[in-house]
Amino acid sequence: MTMPSAPCARGYRSAVRALAPILLGAALFAGSLSAAVPPGQGPSAGGSQSQFKVTLLGTAGGPSQMGFERVETGVLVQAGPETLLFDCGRGVPERLAQLGSLGVSKVFLTHLHSDHTQGLPILWMSGWQGRNQNNFTVYGPATGPNQPVGTIGMGTSIANAWATNTYIRENLVEKYPAGGIVYNAQEISQGVVYSANGVKVTAFLVDHDPVMPAFGYRVDYSGYSVTLSGDTRPTANLIQYAAGTDVLIHEVFNAAPGSAAPTAAYHTVPEQAAAIFQSVAPRMAVYYHIAPAVFDPTPRTRAAGYAGPLTVGTDLTAINIGQAVTVTTCPSPDTPAISAVDNAADGTPALSAGETIVVWGTGFTATGGNSLTFSQTDSSGKVTSVTAGESSGGYFWDASYTLIGTALGSSIGAGNWNVTAKNACGISSPAFAVTIH
Ligand SMILES: [Zn+2]
Ligand SMILES: [Zn+2]
Repeated sequence: MTMPSAPCARGYRSAVRALAPILLGAALFAGSLSAAVPPGQGPSAGGSQSQFKVTLLGTAGGPSQMGFERVETGVLVQAGPETLLFDCGRGVPERLAQLGSLGVSKVFLTHLHSDHTQGLPILWMSGWQGRNQNNFTVYGPATGPNQPVGTIGMGTSIANAWATNTYIRENLVEKYPAGGIVYNAQEISQGVVYSANGVKVTAFLVDHDPVMPAFGYRVDYSGYSVTLSGDTRPTANLIQYAAGTDVLIHEVFNAAPGSAAPTAAYHTVPEQAAAIFQSVAPRMAVYYHIAPAVFDPTPRTRAAGYAGPLTVGTDLTAINIGQAVTVTTCPSPDTPAISAVDNAADGTPALSAGETIVVWGTGFTATGGNSLTFSQTDSSGKVTSVTAGESSGGYFWDASYTLIGTALGSSIGAGNWNVTAKNACGISSPAFAVTIH
């Protein structure tokens, strides 16, 4: 996304002047404020931490799809204190960085195809400091009839390939923590492969022949569960392991039913997925690993008779699982950027305590659910941080002008502040410095 040019910014400012009475009205009267909040976007939308949350990091299936709107496969599961990553294709470390979660230390691989694994070296090296002394632990399949290298062999090769980098940063210059760069590979078989803090991860065999073994995973926590298909053609074993699951996240491939093309034959077409969804009857069926990435499998899934809850995943779509299953779709995984912060009354950058301000920028979520954080550090190093979102008094979102406004509450007084905007996909902008008089 490009920043607005100067003439464009002037245009925005005259728009603010025209809008000012409306904006101030919205800030002052709760009745007007509610009109500025799009329906269905509560304060918990996006970004917020919950007990059992699944985030689709990458939803494109197959190799060689180099776009950034959909990156390759990766699913983040946050359950209680556990943060677990399932697969790590191209772009997945960048998605984790957008969410501030680059330090994830436990990765579960469904199989060893490149679109599920090629982000591993990046995550291993770039997430080093974030992991501190926690080892980088990767669970995945062993060698097999058509797999000359298993999860351990892959890990050994990755660690060896960058041993120079590891040696220098660990011992000579940066002195990064030694534990964080330990690449701990573990080969698994069907069954419970991880259990901690009430979170249980079960691997089950799927049918991605000739890729053997290949796994799907089920994560159980607090009486709820999510099941990931990995890459597979329809198999009874998945239906058995997914029994009673709350959320079933399944791959899909765009080929004609019954296609004999080799790539179609080891994946699942929408008509087959519809039958799987009907059989498992999850509280929410979700598509990921969509191949090709531009393909919408919905019409064929519906035509094939599945009428239950269905989400076509986009990158950074978040699913909260509990008494309700709530899906927050992310329309665009763009990182937001603030281009200007103005006084709502006159559209100038002169800001005073107690006033209403408007924040212009790009990458805000058009349907709302954005928030602003003001932070400052005093001379003793103490950090003050204040967040304004849709549950805050005086906050509003204006979709027509793509601006966020907020009244400066008493906790945001005179001084120098850094403002960041977080969109509904949980991505924060770089800081924008303002002075409040
Ligand atoms: Zn794949
Ligand atoms: Zn595959």
